[in-house]
Amino acid sequence: MSINDKIKENRFGVRNMYVVCSEHLSEAIDEFIEVYEQPPDIYELDKVSFTDWISPNSCDFCEVPPKYLVV
Ligand SMILES: [Zn+2]
Repeated sequence: MSINDKIKENRFGVRNMYVVCSEHLSEAIDEFIEVYEQPPDIYELDKVSFTDWISPNSCDFCEVPPKYLVV
C-alpha cells in the first residue's frame, strides 16, 4: 500500500498514524504496535511527497516540528 493510500485511510478513520519529532519516534512506534500488533512503516517527512496531505506543524506529542511519519 502506498503512503498516500495510507493517509487516505487515516482520513476516513480506518488507520492511525503519528507525526512525530525524533524524540517521540519510539513512543509513536510503541503506541502503534500496541494498537495494531505489528510494526509501523516509518517515513521521513522531508523525503516523501504527499499528493493531498500537508503534514502538521508540530509533533503529536510536543510542539517541536515533526520529522517522521509513523503509519
Ligand atoms: Zn515530539
